[in-house]
Amino acid sequence: MRQYLDVKDQHPDALVLFRLGDFYELFFEDAVLGSRLLDLTLTTRDKGKDDAVPMCGVPHHAARGYIAKLTELGHRVVIVEQVEDPRLAKGLVKREVARIVTPGVVLDDEVLDPKQPRYVAAIVATKQSVGLAYLDATTGELRATELAPAELEGELVRVAPREVLADAKQLADGGALAALRARYKVAWHATAIPATVDAAVTELAKLSGVDREAALAVRAAAAVVSYARATQPTGALPIRALAMYRPGDAVVLDEAAIANLELVETLIGRRAQGSLLDVIDQTVTAPGGRLLRRWLLYPLVDVAQIRRRQDAVAWLVERPALTEQLRRALSRIADLERLAGKAMLGVAMPRDLGRLRDALAALPELIALVASGTTKLDPAPALLALEPARDPALATLAARLARALVDAPSFLLKDRAIRAGYDATVDECRSLADGGKEQIAAIEEREQKGSGIPSLKVRYNRVFGYYIEITKSHLAKVPAHYARKQTIATGERYVTPELAELEKKVVAAEDTLAIREAELFRAEVCAVAELAGPIAAAGAALAICDACAALADVAASRGYCRPIVDDGRALDITDGRHPVIEAMLPAGAFVPNDCRLDLDSDQLVLITGPNMAGKSTYMRQVAQIVLLAQIGAFVPAKAATIGVCDRVFTRVGASDNLSRGDSTFMVEMRETATILANATARSLIVLDEVGRGTSTFDGVSIAWAVAEHIHDAIGARTLFATHYHELVALAESRPRVRNVSVAVREHKNEIVFLRRVIPGGASKSYGIDVARLAGLPKRVVDRSREIMATLETGCFAAETSLRSASPQLSLLANVAPTSVETSLRAALAAIDPNRITPLEALQLLADLKSLT
Ligand code: ADP
Ligand code: MG
Repeated sequence: MRQYLDVKDQHPDALVLFRLGDFYELFFEDAVLGSRLLDLTLTTRDKGKDDAVPMCGVPHHAARGYIAKLTELGHRVVIVEQVEDPRLAKGLVKREVARIVTPGVVLDDEVLDPKQPRYVAAIVATKQSVGLAYLDATTGELRATELAPAELEGELVRVAPREVLADAKQLADGGALAALRARYKVAWHATAIPATVDAAVTELAKLSGVDREAALAVRAAAAVVSYARATQPTGALPIRALAMYRPGDAVVLDEAAIANLELVETLIGRRAQGSLLDVIDQTVTAPGGRLLRRWLLYPLVDVAQIRRRQDAVAWLVERPALTEQLRRALSRIADLERLAGKAMLGVAMPRDLGRLRDALAALPELIALVASGTTKLDPAPALLALEPARDPALATLAARLARALVDAPSFLLKDRAIRAGYDATVDECRSLADGGKEQIAAIEEREQKGSGIPSLKVRYNRVFGYYIEITKSHLAKVPAHYARKQTIATGERYVTPELAELEKKVVAAEDTLAIREAELFRAEVCAVAELAGPIAAAGAALAICDACAALADVAASRGYCRPIVDDGRALDITDGRHPVIEAMLPAGAFVPNDCRLDLDSDQLVLITGPNMAGKSTYMRQVAQIVLLAQIGAFVPAKAATIGVCDRVFTRVGASDNLSRGDSTFMVEMRETATILANATARSLIVLDEVGRGTSTFDGVSIAWAVAEHIHDAIGARTLFATHYHELVALAESRPRVRNVSVAVREHKNEIVFLRRVIPGGASKSYGIDVARLAGLPKRVVDRSREIMATLETGCFAAETSLRSASPQLSLLANVAPTSVETSLRAALAAIDPNRITPLEALQLLADLKSLT
């Protein structure tokens, strides 16, 4: 217990799994918690005594699954192993912390998603600025950035770490970080973030050319590295570089945009299937999949970089046969980044090194394949050239591993992973052990004949090694020199001096063999670890090939085009399609549509049309096409010109956003406020039914004011869908507002959705037509039309704006004033509409609403 308590003292907030023989045991509160989480029977140690200790355990061979379950539930697990052979130990067997498994630091392939990174992140926050760093311990990918506090949550959502470290005091003080922890549900770990940065990270930062200003980011990196390092006392983290980035290096995408555009998971149900990534991720390797995910979440803003990727994709699109061959070859290649990581961490198994060797051996074939597509006029683009895979050290390593390891090593070393002929000691011990076993087998036949007992068997068990077993009916014939060892139900077990002697030889040979094999294998792992950098670099180069080939494959199979990406002010899409919905419909069923946005003329496109017409689909498709274009991909359109966007904002109206279940209007307004505060003239804004979450009057007014503000003050390219067709009038007073609508046709008393976006606003909302079709009495339908006519002429006549809103208020005049109305009237009387900005109008509206 002393040993146990020492460990527990050092890890009070983790579950300690303590190896005792064939079990990992949990004690005290850990046992109580563990038994509940893992559905284990809770027992006690030293039963009956006053200080009986609660305990529960899991068999060591099944521990993996249990550990995985605990970490997936957000717990940290400390694994304590026996570090000496219990047979040889004098007194207490020595035990040490072998590793710590945390939600963010998991090395188990069975738990890891091959196509997703597993990040642990650290936050170092001051009032003005936040350092964020995150590490994938399996590959050593380490990135850091410095952000404004308001940007942190969006970036966390994009990075999606499984575990976040932050300063314990800040988490406890009820401030911004505490609030973030309450909202952002992952495993948070309150810790002390060191004020100084350790030498290793300082070195990394220097190597990566990090400037002084990034002090918070570097501190966050140091925190995350030292945390991860402590989880692996016996291995080294495969970190080679600290990649610093600025939020503005990529298109800024906040949580709303990532969710609404369904980039990596669907809005409803949060499934990967049906997301944009799902459609374009035709990668055939895990690193390729991880890279493409990153590309999609960090679209580029630099035209030259985008074109480099496009060049690579286009080059492959023009060579379909080569691309197919390349993809087939890549699909056989193991995850070099994670295998190199495993070698450095010291957790590589023989099977891992076998796969690594085969992958390295396949590199020349891949290089040759890409080179074979090179023509004088059209050489392979630099991105595909696989330069790092040409490192001769890799070929040397592959040859070395080929000599040392059998063709298909299994998971375990003792399954003869070392190739025969590689090492004299191994060969000798194996033949001694095998010879001994053969001799033992021969004894069985000899003794059967000698004793006249045909059923005599030589057997082996772990308790007393080799023995002779004789069934009851033959006990009379047992030779005198057999020494009885054990009685069993069916007979007796014996040993002989000869057997004991042979056994000793076999055991000695096998012991020596195991030690030697382990030594040799460790040397191979070290040889790999030493080249971990070049191996991972080759892996990264393959990942780029895979990602580009995947995009080429999608482009070819789905008929995408190469967009023109430039720094221009336009966004011009001909026959664009929604990549995901198109993929779900039968071929040709999706109706393509054009989109033209231009800062100088068609800055804000207002989309009207009845419910279900296709407004949301149209807007999302435009945003997705922009993002695809900016990751360097081809896009679902006949032709497209994309002037790069620096940010993409989306806001999706209440009823389209059921899954969130928040107080919808508040969320809607908060998201709208974020957009208005952060959008620039280079942004793309997608607003879907803003104002829908409140009554019609506020809804129309807010939508109107927001649209005006975007037009007048921000000047960003904007798609604005609304079922308030009153807004159509905006185009008459604002020069860069264009109306389009999604066409519908009435046919035999039904509304037919044509899915065509046509110029001009919807003339009517069709709501009343739908009501008529649904069988509402004619009197009611007619009355609806009357009321609608009043509203249309009264409320939002084009030449006036919100100022002329008085007719709608007159609707209220017929009702006896209540105290609420009295105060509303008073408040309204105090407003001078000529002197307020649209934003103030918004605020006023919110105030007025609060009076009701
Ligand atoms: P709205 O936002 O106008 O209410 P949606 O965009 O949600 O309409 O579209 C309603 C349905 O119509 C979608 O589920 C989609 O499957 C289908 N749809 C939309 N646009 C198209 C199109 N261009 N081609 C084919 N089907 C479409
Ligand atoms: Mg919609």
